[in-house]
Amino acid sequence: MEVVVSEETNKKVLDEGIKEAVTDACIPLKIFYGHVVNLASKVDFLFIPRIINWENTSNFCPKFLGLPDMIRHGIKGIPPIISPRISTKSLRASWRSIENIARTLNVSKFKAIHAYRRGLTAISKYKELLRDGWTPLEAEQILASGNSTQKLEGKMNIALLGYPYALYDSYINSNLISQLRGLDVKIHTADTLPVQKLKRNIYDRKDAFWHYSDSVLRAGMHFIQDSNIEGLIHVTAFGCGPDFLVNKILEIEAKEHSKPLLTLSLDDKNGDSGIITRLESFINMIPFAKGTHRIAH
Ligand code: SF4
Repeated sequence: MEVVVSEETNKKVLDEGIKEAVTDACIPLKIFYGHVVNLASKVDFLFIPRIINWENTSNFCPKFLGLPDMIRHGIKGIPPIISPRISTKSLRASWRSIENIARTLNVSKFKAIHAYRRGLTAISKYKELLRDGWTPLEAEQILASGNSTQKLEGKMNIALLGYPYALYDSYINSNLISQLRGLDVKIHTADTLPVQKLKRNIYDRKDAFWHYSDSVLRAGMHFIQDSNIEGLIHVTAFGCGPDFLVNKILEIEAKEHSKPLLTLSLDDKNGDSGIITRLESFINMIPFAKGTHRIAH
């Protein structure tokens, strides 16, 4: 089977998404709609799994759970959707997910097990690269080329918090990661933390949110208490309910620990210059803010 992926997000993808999605959808959902339109004429099937949970016990936001149905009933004239249910809560649940995909794609169990094992090896190498600070796209390129990599360094240590689809989509976030690297910043994210650092002992209230919101909160709590981290940037998605609460908690905790915090809200009207100016001001302000609390918006 040939795998075809959509183009990187661009103005056309975003505009198509805005046209197709319901008006009050969060910005990542609108972008997803745009990517579906981008692929629709190029493929025989669309693979949109129903991801229930991944690697821990918290579930995904209901918009993830309903994604295949929303797309199926929301966009006209698209190819059939393959949408296996994915849950990795336990070994048995993972295996059921694999069986499910094998059945849907009409391949033997033997082939599915072989592909699953190869997938696990690839994922573990990919995650090592994310832990070293590479973005998903860079990690994929490094894996494909087989080139070894130098370490990413920077003079200032900043934690970048947010959902992967907001942090790593350079179109919607105005090249945030490149901008920060250009300012000599070493970026720390939930992906650069070993999994055990995201466990409950860091944020010991009960699970309040969905998978990615929990991971942002736990990583945020870790970085707020880490003396090596000089400031935090929380990238929020316009139209996301959980983000509003996560941001409020981060603000309160950052204030208690006197950590500078910048909140960047991404929407479909962000201009590059606005984000860049605020980033530069925040980074320049940090040396003066040490020992005092600052929240920037
Ligand atoms: S977590 Fe927020 S941004 Fe992500 S899909 Fe749900 S509502 Fe949208």
